[in-house]
Amino acid sequence: MGLITFLIIFTPTIFKFIPSLTSLSAQENNLSKSNSFDEIKPEDELQIYTPILPQPTIVAKAITTPEYIPQQSIVNVHPSNYETRASQDIYGKPINNQMILVLHETVGSATSAINTFKNNNIRETNQVSYHVLIPRNGAIVYLVPPEKRAFGAGNSIFKGPSGVETVKLHPKFPSSVNNFAYHVSLETPADGRGNQRSHSGYTAGQYESLAWLIAQTNISEDRITTHQSVDRSGLRKDPRSFNRTKFLSLLKTYRSNNSLLGENNSL
Ligand SMILES: [Zn+2]
Repeated sequence: MGLITFLIIFTPTIFKFIPSLTSLSAQENNLSKSNSFDEIKPEDELQIYTPILPQPTIVAKAITTPEYIPQQSIVNVHPSNYETRASQDIYGKPINNQMILVLHETVGSATSAINTFKNNNIRETNQVSYHVLIPRNGAIVYLVPPEKRAFGAGNSIFKGPSGVETVKLHPKFPSSVNNFAYHVSLETPADGRGNQRSHSGYTAGQYESLAWLIAQTNISEDRITTHQSVDRSGLRKDPRSFNRTKFLSLLKTYRSNNSLLGENNSL
C-alpha cells in the first residue's frame, strides 16, 4: 500500500519505469515566481540542448495513425530540480493517489525553459521542472523521469471525482499535487510571451504528440487537468488557449489505435 505504480511505455524505444518510493527527504517547491505563468528568464536562453536519442524526421504535419511516432529526445535535468516520489506524507500516512496529468505552457521559449532545468538551483524557491516539454515542432523532450517527482505545481490541489487530493511533504511548504502528478508543458507561441489572457494556441504537432504520449499511460480523462485548475495561489493561468476538446479527441483516437494494436496500457 502507498506505492504509486506508474508505468509508461514508449515505442519504439521502450522505457519501463517502476518507481522506487522510499525517500521522504523531499522538499516541496513553492514556485514563488512573480509571473503569472511559468516564465523563464531570457538570459537563460544561451545554448541549444543536445538530444541524446537518435532523431527521427521532424514532424511537420502530424497525422493520427498507429504509425505516428514523434521526434523524441532526453535532456538531463539537474537533480536539484526534482526529487523521489514519496511513499508517505509528512504525517506518516501512506500515499496512494493515482497519477494525474498536469498541463502547462512555457511562456518563454522551450530552449530557455530547458536551460533553466539544467541549472543547479540551490534556492528551493527556484527549483522547477516538468517531466516532458513539447516544443512548437511537436517533438517530445523527456526531462524528469516519470518515476521522479517534478516540481511543476507548488501550492496546489486536485479536485477529482473522488474528492480533493493533495500531499503535504515538507513543513515549510504548502501541500501540492506534485507527488502524484505527471507534468507536461507546451511551448508557448511567440505572441504569448507576456501576461495577456490568451494567444494563438499550440501547433497541430504539439496536440498530436501530447495525445500520442498520454495514450501510452493509464491516466484517465477525469485525471487530466491544468496548472490553472490545481493552483491555489490564484496566479497560474496556464496553459492559456489550450483546446481540451481537440486534445481529448486525439487521445481517444490514439488509445483506440493502441488497443487495435493489442497493446496493454492499463497496468
Ligand atoms: Zn505551469
